[in-house]
Amino acid sequence: MNIATFESQETTAETFTGNRALAIEEPLIFEIGRSDTTGVDVDEPEAFTPRLGALERKSSIGLPGLSEPETMRHYVRLSQKNYGIDTGMFPLGSCTMKHNPRLNEKMARLPGLGDIHPLQPLSTVPGALELIAELSRWLLELTGMSAVAMLPKAGAHGELCGMMAIKAALAARGEPRTVVLVPESAHGTNPATAALLGYRVEPVPARGDGTVDAVEVQKRLTADVAAIMLTNPNTCGLFERDIVAIADAVHAAGAYFYADGANFNAIVGKVRPGDLGIDAMHINLHKTFSTPHGGGGPGAGPVVFSDALAPFAPLPLVLADKEGHRLAEHASEAPQTARPFGRLSAFHGQMGMFVRALSYMLSHGADGLRQVAHDAVLNANYIRASLKDVMSLPYPDRPCMHEVLFDDHWLEGTGITTLDLAKALIDEGYHPMTVYFPLVVHGAILIEPTESESKASLDLFIAALRDLAMAAKRGDRARFTGAPYYAPRRRLDETRAARTPVLRWTPLKPQREAAE
Ligand SMILES: *Cc1c(COP(=O)(O)O)cnc(C)c1O
Repeated sequence: MNIATFESQETTAETFTGNRALAIEEPLIFEIGRSDTTGVDVDEPEAFTPRLGALERKSSIGLPGLSEPETMRHYVRLSQKNYGIDTGMFPLGSCTMKHNPRLNEKMARLPGLGDIHPLQPLSTVPGALELIAELSRWLLELTGMSAVAMLPKAGAHGELCGMMAIKAALAARGEPRTVVLVPESAHGTNPATAALLGYRVEPVPARGDGTVDAVEVQKRLTADVAAIMLTNPNTCGLFERDIVAIADAVHAAGAYFYADGANFNAIVGKVRPGDLGIDAMHINLHKTFSTPHGGGGPGAGPVVFSDALAPFAPLPLVLADKEGHRLAEHASEAPQTARPFGRLSAFHGQMGMFVRALSYMLSHGADGLRQVAHDAVLNANYIRASLKDVMSLPYPDRPCMHEVLFDDHWLEGTGITTLDLAKALIDEGYHPMTVYFPLVVHGAILIEPTESESKASLDLFIAALRDLAMAAKRGDRARFTGAPYYAPRRRLDETRAARTPVLRWTPLKPQREAAE
């Protein structure tokens, strides 16, 4: 396509309503709602004496009123603007946007699981406790670890949980160490977690091959180091081959090894983190075990612990004895050896996510989960092999794991950036890949297809990216610099939106005033 077609599309798309065919412009509910309309008929109340005293509302609250069909249309239209894994491929690197099997949803909606309330007496929910225990058993088996905290509600929350256990273990030893080592390629949540707990973050540089330099780790292992936080496979999509040597060095220095397990999808059923010398690791159930995510959750980030950290796991603990499962909510009810660091949040974790994750595990079985890792890695390498002649690889010498990382070397001299490419991919009907992360690679383009894409789906995605790559190389800048052309909104000032968000809607000025 050339500039002319894009320009003409811009002008011919002007319509009277602002709609573009069935892509309907949707105002805010406050803009379309009226104060004299409501979706329900409520009888005028009979005379009564209000008992609110001075708290009685003096003016109208200004809530928008709509008829039922108008309300219905408003929210259904909004829902149709969403792009999700159920709409199309979502190659967002590091996020493992895999298909969420409908069976999981069916299980989570079973009345006995979907309708329970966290304040219900425990005697009425033995099955829920058993389900948590069974999921814990699977997680421990898959990771080769000794204990698990089911409470954390996200990966980042899991990091906090794991690092709090490390802090408690060090305090029990009477060693308040102050430094946490974090590789440069780490996800931003890692240094944020360490900093939140008051640690000084010491970055560890990467080697030329994209992995963490064990020699650089060794150099920094002073008696003040509390832990290292390391991701494996790392955020460049590469397996850290020196991980066992790094774990040994960390332990020899009296520190603990926290692993960010967000990328577990690449090795589930293949590698047990416990065998690598890891002391604590969170597992994003919403990534590896297919519970829906994006748009704010809910997620679940259980943390598995080694023998050394198991006693410090937070409450509550699900315990099994002759009478079945019970929940230890206080340290006094926990086993003698337990020294829980406390509680991380109310209740017992994200039950709906537990049901979905266990449903996923049971329907795949041990062999099926191993196949997940195989296929996720195969799909990423298929994309890598299919695009490496037109896009550049920062680490060309070894295959990738579950995600493939390109850099922007191939865009040099075109006047087109990684961001432009991502925006042009929106016009092709895809959610963009992860861009500019990890930071260790210039103009990073991180693609994670997951195992749930078919070969046909991968081929179409590859063809779309090849077409964009060829256009970029031909110098067709217009296709990129103004993209997205077909989205409901064009290119937004994302920095300003993040830095100075406008969180309060104010009514537009009446037409009369505006004209003055
Ligand atoms: C997703 C992710 C996290 C954070 O997980 P959340 O559930 O989003 O809090 C941490 N590290 C890595 C490498 C990730 O990909």
